[in-house]
Amino acid sequence: AKVRIYQLAKELGMENAELLEILNEMGVSYKSHASTLEDETAQAVKEIIAEQRGLEEQRRREEEAKRAEEARKALPHRPPVVVIMGHVDHGKTSLLDYLRKSRIAEREAGGITQHVGAFEVKTKGGTVVFIDTPGHEAFTSIRQRGARVADIAVIVIAADDGIMPQTKEAIAHAKAAGAKIIFAANKMDLPQANLDKVYQDLMREQFVPEAYGGDAIVVPISAKTGQGVADLLDMILLVAELEDLRADPEAEPKGVILEARVDKQAGVLASMLVQEGTFRVGDYLVAGEVWGKIRAMRDSDDNQRKEAPPGSAVQVLGFSELPHAGEVVHWVPDQVAAKEIAEERILERKDREAGAETGLRARNIADLLRTMKEAEQKEINIILRTDTQGSLEAIQQILAKESTEEVKINVMFAAVGAPAESDVLLATTANAAILSFGVNPAGSVKKMAEQKGVPLQSFRIIYELIDEVRKMVRGQREPVF
Ligand code: GDP
Repeated sequence: AKVRIYQLAKELGMENAELLEILNEMGVSYKSHASTLEDETAQAVKEIIAEQRGLEEQRRREEEAKRAEEARKALPHRPPVVVIMGHVDHGKTSLLDYLRKSRIAEREAGGITQHVGAFEVKTKGGTVVFIDTPGHEAFTSIRQRGARVADIAVIVIAADDGIMPQTKEAIAHAKAAGAKIIFAANKMDLPQANLDKVYQDLMREQFVPEAYGGDAIVVPISAKTGQGVADLLDMILLVAELEDLRADPEAEPKGVILEARVDKQAGVLASMLVQEGTFRVGDYLVAGEVWGKIRAMRDSDDNQRKEAPPGSAVQVLGFSELPHAGEVVHWVPDQVAAKEIAEERILERKDREAGAETGLRARNIADLLRTMKEAEQKEINIILRTDTQGSLEAIQQILAKESTEEVKINVMFAAVGAPAESDVLLATTANAAILSFGVNPAGSVKKMAEQKGVPLQSFRIIYELIDEVRKMVRGQREPVF
């Protein structure tokens, strides 16, 4: 069918004059905008327009990205937020204590400190914010709700002990959260401390220490004597500099709840880490299903604060109820909005719960595959649990060969022993499946996996486990026609 020039212009969403100019450039002759065009000509015009628009769109997108990057570069730096993780008794609490004490010593004697969920350490090179609770449980429960809190994970390894199961778990959690990892080889004051063993253990976990020519940062320290802690702070600041962490103090304020409790006298006390913008006394805020008005804020030096810019941790007085740790805090303009948003969220949750009761069931591996496919995820994340070290190694060796060019099998965490609740937490944040061999999870773990929608499967025969993984790999592969 022939098309008139004005019709084509309309179809392409352009002015007649614009189209006539293109026709001129193409050397097409016409009388007026009412003239008809040959099919071929119309097609050629469409192609030219599509190409022009494509190029323009691309240029526009590139410029936008450039502008966004320039705008980001103009923002002030913010301090890095650090979480301390590691195996039990390797010195997490001692390191936090040492850091806390060193900053008290810096300040005038007799100052009171306040537990607000995080504290700052100021050095000549800059400020570092430490999350005040060690371990990955706190960290993961925060991540559960979608908040990203820590930029850097310091993983403490006692140099008289080396890498232990919870060290591996901490590594898996830090990786899943996208946090940069710094290893602190602790207890270097002990005569039996063996840094080489720590290095070798790390090599076995695919981390090549700088001392061995790799890029894994390992800082020898003693949380007891304080030896090396200054170096650790320097390293944290160096990594932070490379990460180029910035935040806009003028943006709409946003933060995350680190912890919350009820005080008999004061009411609800919630610790909040400010991530963007500046919260001020009198502001209204919403954290999940809970709203509040900031009546007062206090920092870890027990100062009353009128303002809390990015990177500050403050205790907020004025929430109506107890917010959950890990809940994202949003600034809202007034009480009406605050109440409305909180109520909406309660209703949404109730709807979801009602839906869950009437028909939804726990997710299985097929469901997991579907979500991965939708997200175009080309990696299958697996948490592996087995009865013995031997079976663990055997299965890992076989799985290592099952990755294909298109789909990579990523065993994020592998350990001897029954699947635990911490595995379920890790699986939720990383979209992983838990596979166990020769060990069965406790009922409470099974239930938790069901609630969180984490596929959890136990096997008695190695081949069946491998076969399940193969199916996952195949299910992931793009169909070839
Ligand atoms: P956490 O379970 O990782 O928090 O470990 P802790 O900080 O509670 O430390 C466990 C034990 O190791 C305690 O008895 C500490 O006193 C001791 N410890 C921690 N760091 C050091 C250190 O650098 N040197 C020595 N000698 N002992 C340490």
